[in-house]
Amino acid sequence: MEMAPKLPVYMDNQATTAVDPRVLEAMLPYFTEKYGNAASRNHEFGWKAEEAVEAARGQIARLIHASPREIIFTSGATESDNLAIKGVAEAYREKGNHIVTQATEHKAVLDTCKRLEKYGYEVTYLPVAKDGLIDLDQFRRAIKPNTILISIMHANNEIGVVQPVEEIGKIAKEKGVIFHVDAAQSVGKIPVDVEKLGIDLLAISAHKMYGPKGAGALYVRRKNPRVELAAMIDGGGHERGLRSGTLNVPGIVGLGKACEICEKEMAQESERLERLRDKLKDAILSRLDDTFVNGSMAHRLPGNLNLSFSGVEGDALLMGINDVAVSSGSACTSATLEPSYVLRALGISEDLAHSSIRFGIGRFNTEEEVDYVADRVVETVRRLRELSPLYEAAKPRAGR
Ligand SMILES: *Cc1c(COP(=O)(O)O)cnc(C)c1O
Repeated sequence: MEMAPKLPVYMDNQATTAVDPRVLEAMLPYFTEKYGNAASRNHEFGWKAEEAVEAARGQIARLIHASPREIIFTSGATESDNLAIKGVAEAYREKGNHIVTQATEHKAVLDTCKRLEKYGYEVTYLPVAKDGLIDLDQFRRAIKPNTILISIMHANNEIGVVQPVEEIGKIAKEKGVIFHVDAAQSVGKIPVDVEKLGIDLLAISAHKMYGPKGAGALYVRRKNPRVELAAMIDGGGHERGLRSGTLNVPGIVGLGKACEICEKEMAQESERLERLRDKLKDAILSRLDDTFVNGSMAHRLPGNLNLSFSGVEGDALLMGINDVAVSSGSACTSATLEPSYVLRALGISEDLAHSSIRFGIGRFNTEEEVDYVADRVVETVRRLRELSPLYEAAKPRAGR
C-alpha cells in the first residue's frame, strides 16, 4: 500500500488552481508599499503601479506572441468573452448580425450569445462529434455573408478537448470573419500563438493558470485586421477606452508572473501532467469494467481526464470519495437536474453523463496523490455497484 497523501486531495484544476507561491510573492508589495493607482500620472506611487502593469502586459504578450498594446486587462475570462462577443456585435452591426459558435462552449460564451439573440442577432451553435471536436466542413458551411464573428474555444473546461484552432483560424481569415477564442483553459498549459493560430480576440483567466481569481485579459488584434470593439464598461477611459475602471494592480502583477512561469515551465510541466493523467487513467480502466473516457484522448489538455462509470451516480461517487476534490457531470447541486450539456452534446446518454467525473491534475499534484485517487475511485465504484441491484442484474459477470 502507498502512503496516504495529505488529505483532502485537490484534483479539480479545471475549476480553479492554487496561486503559485512565486505569484503570491510578486503580488504582495502591490497591496502594501506599492499601492498606487496606475492612472495617477503625477507621483511616484502611480508611476510604480503603472510600471508594474506594463511589465505584466509584456509578460502576457510574450506568452501568446502578441504585442503588449494588444492586451486589455479585465476581471477574468467571463468578462473577456463578454467584451469580445458583445463588443464585436455592437461595433460591426452595420456589417451583419450572424455569429458562429459551438455547443460545448463555456456558459460565458453561450449565455452571451443567447442574450444577443434577444437583440436581433442570429447565432449558429455547431454540434460536435462523439470525440468533442467540431467538423471543419460543417463549420465552413455555417459561415454566411452576414457572419461577423466566430467564437470557438481552445480547450474545453469539462473534457479538456482541444479544438483545431489553427484550421479554424485559416478558414476565418479566408472568409474575412473575426475569430474569438476562449482560451481560459489552454493559455499557460499548451502553446498558444495568436499569429500562428490566426486568432483576433483571445480570453485569458489568471486563476486557471496558478494566478489570482478576479484577474484576466483580452487580446485584441491591432493589425491584419485591426479589430474594433465597443466598450461594455464606460468610465475613466482606462485600457484605451475599452475597459474603464481602476486597474487591479496586484491581480495584474499576479497574472503577468503566472504567464512568465508558464512560459518557462510549460514543456516540462505538460509532459509530467500527461504522464500522471495517463497513469490515473490506466490505473482505473485496468481495474474497472464499463468505464469510459469522455472526449478525444488524442486532442486533449495534458492534465484532464473525464470518465463515466456505468451503474454509478456521479454524485454518489463524489460523496464516496469525499477526501478527493473532483467534480461530476451531474448537476444535482444546481437548480436543474440536467446532466452536463457538454457531455450530452457528445451524444453521451443521460445516465452516463450523470455518472461522469472530471479529474483535473495540476502543478501541485503528486504521483502519490494520483495513486491514492485511483485506489479510492476503484474501491468506491466497486462498492457502489455491489449496492446497485440494477447494475448487478443488468451486467452479470463472473468475478465481480
Ligand atoms: C473558467 C472559465 C471561464 C471563466 O473564467 P473566469 O475567469 O472564472 O471568469 C471561461 N471559459 C472557460 C473555458 C473557463 O474554463
